[in-house]
Amino acid sequence: MVKIVQKISEEGKVIKKRIELVERDISELEEDLKSIASKCPHEFRELTDKEKVDRWMSVDAHCLICDNGFGWRCIKSPDHVCHYYSNDGKVELIDGTKVDVPWSDYDAKYESEDGCIFCGMPDERK
Ligand SMILES: [Zn+2]
Ligand SMILES: [Zn+2]
Repeated sequence: MVKIVQKISEEGKVIKKRIELVERDISELEEDLKSIASKCPHEFRELTDKEKVDRWMSVDAHCLICDNGFGWRCIKSPDHVCHYYSNDGKVELIDGTKVDVPWSDYDAKYESEDGCIFCGMPDERK
């Protein structure tokens, strides 16, 4: 019995160690992925004519190069992705540049996921 307990505890330690190593690898890879994404110019596929006139415009903003998702495609925003929040009158685009909120009477306190700053579409759609 003692032998079995010892064996199990040894095995457990080995597995724990392996998990630790794998977790370290994962966090390193996640860092790599972030740095790749930060250099990516982010390209999206062309919208079809049908999508361009679709009232709901439910097209995923999925980058063809780095494979990252950015929510919804937007027909009005400068980076073609919907944005719901601004900071100091500026909207941060997916490449990190900041652009002015396009409305002169804009009030940031009404910002929510119910409406994209550029096109007004809610985050929740199908
Ligand atoms: Zn990308
Ligand atoms: Zn939008």
